[in-house]
Amino acid sequence: MFKIGIGPSSSHTLGPWRAAQKFTDSLNKAGKLDQVIRIEVLLYGSLAKTGVGHGTDIAVQLGLCGEDPVSFDVNSIDARINDIKQMKKLLLGARHEIDFDPKEDIEFLFSESLPFHPNALTFLVELKNGDTLAETYYSIGGGFVQKEGENPLDASAVIELPFPINTANDLLHWCRKTGMSIHEIVMENEVVWHPEPAVKKMVLNIWRVMKECIYRGSATEGYLPGGLQVKRRAFALNKKLLKGKEYNNYDEWAAAIREGGNQFNYILDWVSCFALAVNEENASFGRVVTAPTNGAAGVIPAVLQYFILFCNGDSEEKIIQFLLTASEIGSIFKKGATISAAMGGCQAEIGVSSAMAAAALTESLGGSQRQAMMAAEIAMEHHLGMTCDPIGGLVQIPCIERNTMGAIKAITASQLALQSTPDFAKVSLDGVIKTMWDTALDMNSKYKETADGGLAVNVPLSLSEC
Ligand code: SF4
Repeated sequence: MFKIGIGPSSSHTLGPWRAAQKFTDSLNKAGKLDQVIRIEVLLYGSLAKTGVGHGTDIAVQLGLCGEDPVSFDVNSIDARINDIKQMKKLLLGARHEIDFDPKEDIEFLFSESLPFHPNALTFLVELKNGDTLAETYYSIGGGFVQKEGENPLDASAVIELPFPINTANDLLHWCRKTGMSIHEIVMENEVVWHPEPAVKKMVLNIWRVMKECIYRGSATEGYLPGGLQVKRRAFALNKKLLKGKEYNNYDEWAAAIREGGNQFNYILDWVSCFALAVNEENASFGRVVTAPTNGAAGVIPAVLQYFILFCNGDSEEKIIQFLLTASEIGSIFKKGATISAAMGGCQAEIGVSSAMAAAALTESLGGSQRQAMMAAEIAMEHHLGMTCDPIGGLVQIPCIERNTMGAIKAITASQLALQSTPDFAKVSLDGVIKTMWDTALDMNSKYKETADGGLAVNVPLSLSEC
């Protein structure tokens, strides 16, 4: 559920980047990479409609160059893309130079869509001997990619887990049977792939990137790229809330925040600041953690940062537990519904991230497993039907503010669950997941990351730079 990558979109940036990497790898494995003389990339459906605003074309070029979104220096993106544009050359797989003109060789097929998934891209290749080949990939949400014709079952489906989980009911069954908490169940499953210390190290690395993103975003001022002239707000809010307190690093910053007290408005403003910071970084092609998507990348870090600073959650064990629980809830949503806005609208992004954060916070605050699942249910219940309508196809309006709302709803859902008896709940987590999926199926396609409806058509704004 958590992947380190680059903004602004997991399905439109990270996924296509991964698809281009996978395609380049497959050419390499087949011994054909050095035979390539031409590549054309076709972007279909939602990838075409909001691809420019989401940097899909940029991601594809960097993926074809063999760059990795986890480690690529985000400050080099503009220079590298400008080089390709000017030279009309691309270093395929970081070693084989081919002619490539992004304007000609990346085609946005605005009116074409492939039946399996709205986020589809095809790589067409011509080889020196005149042969041609084509491969199609689908960006199925959260940075996950599926190649056409590949078995859709992932490794978790074929590896035997001690606690197989597809639904919230399965999770509850294992919790009841073993008496273990959600994060303990998740850890038992994770150690099938990696030893426990390695899992803990990976999870803490995820938090490190989230934390750095919050810190960087709170200290960066200016305007977001793309032409909407959206001013970054976390910087001013951070400054105002700190009331002139100086700091030189994250620890000093965190201490300064704690010193400000725990008044409701103060905490509320900080939660918003954390979420704004992450999503302003995301909108600026910054390094973020997909959680479970890039558009919703601010919700979980904001709630976890709230837990750490205002609920005494500042221990590595607690942070690990929080993220493990959140990931299981996201995984159940992915299996039972979707985490792709192109399939389910914004309920699949902000709604799912809010549900993940709500469950994790509840368990971290001492709630039972059933209360944690109740919190996830409550958080999603109040995001049902939320459409995806990004203005100008950019992950800025309404996306950035939506992360503040998702975070606050997660905290409210958690409090409600902690004050409730799950026995009396009328709606189960599985029930709300099914409802979310039914709603996704009924939702008009113009509200599924196409920028063809909602705010995207009702707010006239000039996009001079797009
Ligand atoms: S509106 Fe929601 S789903 Fe759509 S791009 Fe923005 S955050 Fe993602």
